[in-house]
Amino acid sequence: MSRWFFSIQLRLIVVFALVLVMALGSVSLYVGLAANREADQFDERLEEARAARVEQMISRLYSERQDWGELQAVVEQAGSLYDRRIVVTDSEGRIVADSHFRFGRPWIPRQRESRFMPIVSGNEEIGSLALAPSEIQETIAEPAISRVVSSLNRSLIWTGLAAGVGGILLVSLMSRRILTPVRELTLAAGRLGQGDLSQRVATSSRDEIGQLGATFNAMAEGLEGAERQRRSLMADVAHELRTPLSNIQGYLEAVRDGLLEPDNATIDTIYQQVLHLTRLVEDLRLLALADAGALSLSLQEESLQEVLQSSVASCRPRAEAKGVSVALSIPSEIPLVQMDRTRIAQVVSNLLDNAIFHTPQGGSVSVSAESLGSAVRIIVADTGEGIPPEDLPQVFERFYRVDPSRARTTGGTGLGLTIARQLVEAHRGTIRAESTPGRGSRFIFELPLA
Ligand code: ADP
Repeated sequence: MSRWFFSIQLRLIVVFALVLVMALGSVSLYVGLAANREADQFDERLEEARAARVEQMISRLYSERQDWGELQAVVEQAGSLYDRRIVVTDSEGRIVADSHFRFGRPWIPRQRESRFMPIVSGNEEIGSLALAPSEIQETIAEPAISRVVSSLNRSLIWTGLAAGVGGILLVSLMSRRILTPVRELTLAAGRLGQGDLSQRVATSSRDEIGQLGATFNAMAEGLEGAERQRRSLMADVAHELRTPLSNIQGYLEAVRDGLLEPDNATIDTIYQQVLHLTRLVEDLRLLALADAGALSLSLQEESLQEVLQSSVASCRPRAEAKGVSVALSIPSEIPLVQMDRTRIAQVVSNLLDNAIFHTPQGGSVSVSAESLGSAVRIIVADTGEGIPPEDLPQVFERFYRVDPSRARTTGGTGLGLTIARQLVEAHRGTIRAESTPGRGSRFIFELPLA
């Protein structure tokens, strides 16, 4: 009950009823005023016509007889015919006939209520005529026109009542129809809030409520996707942690059971697994920070040349050990870039590590940069194995590896490119990969200058 009391449906009905009352009220007020004005004008014209007719009668009588002889009888007749007091005075102002003479009421001419008119015979004014309300009738009958107005008002009230009942019925039906999707939406949102992320609503209409439904569906879709991603991330992380942990466990059990000597080689193998775990945890921490938008960047105008030179220098020993050459080509006029030096160095070394790792002996890796006017472009290219086209769109996804078994045993966390993309995007830049399998890959990222 209280829910209905606060409902939009009730508000619509009340507003409709108010609009109806206001519309009918103003129509009946207008009709009343207009009818009264018309009635006044009609009365005026009628009174004028009556006076003119009486004047004609009297002036004809006078011109026939040249005296006021039978005037009293004629005036009495006209008075009762028109229900008016008719008083005739001669040119000297003496009363010569009064239709109400018999009733013995003195004649007091009242300017506002009476109509005065000169009586003309030939060209001579022979007297004057006054027409006044009769005063005799005891009860004053309701004027015809106001009867019309009140009957009109009565009809308006009945019509209004009928229209009101019909309208309220219509408004109830319409509002129920409009509000049904809102109720469905409320139910769906409630269930969504309780954790059922598969909730969707039907969006058949194109109006605001339809748009609300579509937005709700998009939100539910997003939440479901995020939840799916969260679950798969948990599963992926558990899976990634399990491999090095079970390796460590296996080695330690073998040492304990005397199957393996606890020599330097064994300890180093275990140590490598621990290093891998540490790297994985560190990468995950960085990604979690970037995901939460909590990655703090210390942005400064930096020389790209310096950053690229030091990244290339630090990876060169590894490349040379593998027999891969590394070249750097950067124009001297490349502008300074607003960036977090450490983060961009990490992007470049992630790309360089991958390039060296996937390039066989005798191959080459090159790092180059160019200015695009509003941005700078950095390209890390190699002549390695390349990436199959079907894998290319996924290489920036977390834990995505083109060859999972090989990559996991050789120490990659599967997060290097994901981190690179997050760091570049945190600088409002973009990153993409191009590759020809068997010929090499190019990783290209751009950083805006401003
Ligand atoms: P990983 O730790 O496995 O290197 P990344 O996120 O850095 O993870 O890379 C994802 C996958 O993309 C790699 O496993 C590899 O299969 C592929 N990849 C990345 N860089 C290259 C490259 N330069 N050449 C060939 N494949 C590459």
